[in-house]
Amino acid sequence: MKPFEKKIYLSTPTMHGDEIKYIKEAYDTNWMSTVGENINVLEKSIAEKVGCKYAVALSCGTSALHLAVKLAGVKQGDTVFCTDMTFDATVNPVIYEKATPVFIDTEYDTWNMDPVALEKAFEIYPETKVIVIANLYGTPAKLDEICAIADKHGAIIIEDAAESLGATYKGRQTGTFGTYNAISFNGNKIITGSSGGMLLTDDLEAANKARKWSTQSRENAPWYQHEEVGYNYRMSNVIAGVVRGQLPYLEEHIAQKKAIYERYKEGFKDLPVIMNPYDENIMEPNFWLSCMLINKDAMCKQVRSDNDACYISEPGKSCPTEILEALAKYNAEGRPIWKPMHMQPMYRMNPFITKDGNGRGRTNAYIAEGCIDVGADIFDRGLCLPSDNKMTAEEQDIIIEIVKSCFN
Ligand SMILES: *Cc1c(COP(=O)(O)O)cnc(C)c1O
Repeated sequence: MKPFEKKIYLSTPTMHGDEIKYIKEAYDTNWMSTVGENINVLEKSIAEKVGCKYAVALSCGTSALHLAVKLAGVKQGDTVFCTDMTFDATVNPVIYEKATPVFIDTEYDTWNMDPVALEKAFEIYPETKVIVIANLYGTPAKLDEICAIADKHGAIIIEDAAESLGATYKGRQTGTFGTYNAISFNGNKIITGSSGGMLLTDDLEAANKARKWSTQSRENAPWYQHEEVGYNYRMSNVIAGVVRGQLPYLEEHIAQKKAIYERYKEGFKDLPVIMNPYDENIMEPNFWLSCMLINKDAMCKQVRSDNDACYISEPGKSCPTEILEALAKYNAEGRPIWKPMHMQPMYRMNPFITKDGNGRGRTNAYIAEGCIDVGADIFDRGLCLPSDNKMTAEEQDIIIEIVKSCFN
C-alpha cells in the first residue's frame, strides 16, 4: 500500500457555503464586533435546538466552563468532582478558581465518569457541592445515575458537552443535564466557528450574569462602572456567522460520523478489539470520534514514559503505539485516548477515586496496589481513529486494512 497523497485527518472543519454569507453580512453591515445579528440569531437557534432556555455566546468552550464554575459558586479550597479521562479544558477552570479537582474514575460502558466511583467520592468528601462531567468523544455519560447521585447529595452538575453537541440521552439533548452547561465550536468539533463556545442554562439570572461577566462586568451606568471582576469572553459576530452557517448541517455531520463508526465496527469484526461503546437503548451519541479498544489478551508489550512510547511487535497482537505509528506512516492521523488527569504530572497530588475506593484519597498519597484503574487501562489499550467526515469509504477501507495489518 502507498501512503495517502492527501493526509487523512482525525477531524477537520467541513464548510458548506452559508458560513461565508453570514460573515459577509457582518462585514457589510459593519457589525465586526462582539455585538450583532449573527450572535442574536445563533443564541436563539442553539437554545431551540438543544432545548434549553438560554444560550450565551462566548469566545470558547473553556470560557463557558469557567463562567459555569463561577456561577456554581466554586471558590478557593473547595473540592470539585471532575471527569478524569477527558481533555484538560474540562478541569482548567476549576484551577482558575483555585479549587481542588477530585478526579473520579471512568466506567467501561461509555468511557465516562463512573457513578459508583462518584458515590464513593461523596463518602470521602461529603462537603463537595459541584460535579463537572464530560461526554467523551460524543457519547453521553450515565446521566440518570449521575444526576440522581448529585440530587441525593445536594450537588450541582456542570455538563461539559463540548464534544457531544447533538447527542441525546433518552431523547434529551446533552448540554441540558447540568444546571450550567458548556458547548464548543473549536475547529475540530462536530460543527465549528473556527473557535467559539456557549454557556447553556435554564436560569435567566445566571445567563444575565454570564453575559455581564463576559463583557468586562460593566454596571448599568453612564460610564464604565465596575463592582466585580470581568472577562473578555464574548463571541465575535464574525465567528457567530460561521457557526450560524454550520448549525443546519449538524445532523448531516452526525450521520456521516455515525457511518464512519459503523464502517469501522464492521471492518474490525474479526479483530480482537471493540469500538468505543454506548448503550443503544438509551443514548444516541454524535459519533464525533471513532475509537477502538484492544482486548487485554491481544495487547503486545507497550511502555510509555512521560513523553515517549515503545513496544515489541508480536504476531496476532498489537497496541495503540504500533497502530498510531502505522497510520502515521501512511499519512493518516490517529490519536491516543485523552490521558487521564490523575496520570498527569500537574495533578499527581490530587485525589483520584476509583469504584473500589482504592485510588488516591485523603489519606493514601499513592494509588493502592492492585487497584482497578479503568482510565489508565483505557488509555493503555485505546486509541482514536481517523474520523474526518470528508474521508471516503475507499479511504476508510485502507485505514481498516492498515489497522488489521498491525495484528498480523
Ligand atoms: C474542546 C473541548 C473543550 C474546550 O473547548 P474550547 O472551545 O476549545 O475551549 C472542553 N472540554 C472538552 C471535553 C473538549 O473536548
